[in-house]
Amino acid sequence: MLMINETHDVNLTSWVESANQQSDFPIQNLPFAIFKRKGQNEAFRGGVAIGDQVLDLAVLANGNIFSGGVQVALEAASQTSLNALMDLGAETNSALRLALSKALRSDSELQSALEPALIDQQDIEFGMPCVIGDYTDFYTSIYHATAIGKLFRPDNPLLPNYKWIPIGYHGRSSTIGISGQAFPRPVGQTKAPDATEPSFGPCKRLDYELEMGLFVGKSTELGELIKIENAEQHLFGVCIFNDWSARDIQAWEYQPLGPFLAKSFASTISPWIVTMEALAPYRSSFTRPDSDPQPLPHLNSEQNSQSGGLDINLSCFIETQAMRDNNQPMSQLSQSNFKYSYWTPAQLITHHASNGCAMRAGDLLGSGTQSGPTAEEAGSLIELSKGGKSPIALTNGEQRVFLEDGDSIIMRASCSKTGAARIGFGEVVSTVLPANLS
Ligand code: MN
Repeated sequence: MLMINETHDVNLTSWVESANQQSDFPIQNLPFAIFKRKGQNEAFRGGVAIGDQVLDLAVLANGNIFSGGVQVALEAASQTSLNALMDLGAETNSALRLALSKALRSDSELQSALEPALIDQQDIEFGMPCVIGDYTDFYTSIYHATAIGKLFRPDNPLLPNYKWIPIGYHGRSSTIGISGQAFPRPVGQTKAPDATEPSFGPCKRLDYELEMGLFVGKSTELGELIKIENAEQHLFGVCIFNDWSARDIQAWEYQPLGPFLAKSFASTISPWIVTMEALAPYRSSFTRPDSDPQPLPHLNSEQNSQSGGLDINLSCFIETQAMRDNNQPMSQLSQSNFKYSYWTPAQLITHHASNGCAMRAGDLLGSGTQSGPTAEEAGSLIELSKGGKSPIALTNGEQRVFLEDGDSIIMRASCSKTGAARIGFGEVVSTVLPANLS
């Protein structure tokens, strides 16, 4: 696990002035994205956010400013995706973070060398941060699992395996998009409980899922296991993840093999990846109630118990077409925190590789919907609307049970704590378009 070091010092400031104001991206954060300048015919490459600017890592790589492992990392980050950088592992990435932190500090002698590599974030567009070879979605909120379980199986909401293994399914990466994604309402087969036969048509119970996305760092070979003590060596960082879900399609198709077309039509990630190292000040303990089983030894370690969790505040908003038309502010739907997760990131990747499954740099692990313990902390509409029975009042007077065409969902995440710098993830925004029936 990466420890708190000089890069997290709350007193650090940057010569990039906007990083010292209220920003998601102070010098203690330094998240990665893939970007290019808007409207320019140029290659995508890696960048690091600092205040309202992005530091162009390809310019730095060509600048003869750094050497050794830092230069190797910069060259990897100059490619059109971050997979090679992710695969370098935690130690090299930590060296890059330290070098960038020093170079961006208020008193740095490298200011004049770095200034030409800054681009205003208003002038860039994002690409996918990496090629996502494989995508796995977990189900780590026991509050979500219990609430959903009650709707689908009132007598038996939480299945007996839930407290022993991190439940997940293999998803599909082809339709994962970057913030700004707009997608047609899915069409599929559904069956109303009182209908004798299913029918085919646009989804009527379209939902979002408030999740975190974990990116795999250093790859493993087939047959290679990941010990929980080393698990975070194989995690690069975290983004916000909206895992769109078609609840009516899900209800009809999910047994016996799990989610399929209800989950594969779109999923949206935030563009900035906050590294595991940046999150070091925001670790939380992993505890289980005495009445629950403790994890089996391969999913248990002292460090995981002390600080395996992540204290990340999550919030979710809706902006409807009417809000856009009438210049009304978006309406908050819920807020939650990743620390409520029943399983930690280390447990997820250790479990995933425990059968010998090869993990590849850039693979995405969805956390599952991060609902908290109270009803207001639910991370999906199916929970907030109590299974579609109780409409939610929006701030402009509209109501929602499930999503309508033109609705945008906005998710934000941030970490704050006394004695540490507040860091943010930016946001992920995506919009539902009318169904494509042609
Ligand atoms: Mn999900």
